[in-house]
Amino acid sequence: MDLKKIITNMFFPQECIFCKTEIPITTECPICEKCKNIFVFSSKQIFQRYPLEAIVSCVKYEQAARAAVIKFKYGQRKDVGRFFAEVMTQKLKQHNVSPTIVTFIPTRKNERKRFNQSEFLAKKIARSLKIPCKPLLIKKRATKSQTSCKTVIQRKRNVRGAFCPRKDNLSLQNEKILIADDVFTTGATMTECAKALISAGATCIYGISFALTATGETHKEIRFEFSQKPEIITYENLPYDAARLLKKHIRAKRQKGRYNPIDRFFRSEKNN
Ligand SMILES: [Zn+2]
Repeated sequence: MDLKKIITNMFFPQECIFCKTEIPITTECPICEKCKNIFVFSSKQIFQRYPLEAIVSCVKYEQAARAAVIKFKYGQRKDVGRFFAEVMTQKLKQHNVSPTIVTFIPTRKNERKRFNQSEFLAKKIARSLKIPCKPLLIKKRATKSQTSCKTVIQRKRNVRGAFCPRKDNLSLQNEKILIADDVFTTGATMTECAKALISAGATCIYGISFALTATGETHKEIRFEFSQKPEIITYENLPYDAARLLKKHIRAKRQKGRYNPIDRFFRSEKNN
C-alpha cells in the first residue's frame, strides 16, 4: 500500500462494505475478516463445459456475493474488484490451472465508456500471475444484458455469434487462455468467447468467475485431470461442429421416419 493511500485512510477511514466496521489502515481489502466468512463457497468449484477445458468458480452467487458483485459492477468499487481478483487467483493456484494469457469479455465501441468488470478482473489476475493480459476478442454486435434474458435459450440466442477474434492475434495455438468474468450463470457468453478463440486457432481455454449461480451449479463437475477425456458422450462434450452435424443428421432421419440408434442412445443418455 502506498503512502498516499495510508494518509487518505487516516483521514477517511475505510469501512467494511457489509457491516460498516472500520478496517485497519494497512489492509487494502474492503471486507473485514469477519464478513469474509459469510461468502458460501461453491460446491462446484471446478467443472467442465465444452469448449472450455475447465471453469473455476469461487463462491455461490448468494446474498453476500450478490451484494459485493453489485457494489463492484454498478458502484464501480475497484477495491471490491481487487478482492475478487485476489480470491480468483488463489482458486486458480489451488486447482493447478496455469494459463499463459488472460483475456476478457469485450464490450462494444459505444459501450466502452461503461466499466468493463471482466477486463478489470482479467488485468488484476494477470498481474498476480505475472502473465500478460491481452484483448483477444471483439464484440461484433450489440446484445441485450444477459440478466434480462429469462431462459437459457434466450441467453444463448442473445450472444450467439456476437464475438470474433482480433485479427492481429494469430498465434494462439500454444497458449493456455483464461477468460475472466465476475459471475457465471449459464456460461453462454463465455462459451461464445471460447468458440471465437477456437476459430482463431486456440486449443486450450479456461474460464474463471468469482461467483457461480444456481443455474451454473447444474453443470457436470469434473475430477480434474487434463488428460482425462469425459467418459459419457453427450452433445455437451462433443466438439461443437460434430454435435451440430449429428443433431442435423438426426433431425433429417426423424423427418423421414427412420429408426435411428444414435438418436436413441443420446436420448437415453439425456434421461440418465
Ligand atoms: Zn464486515
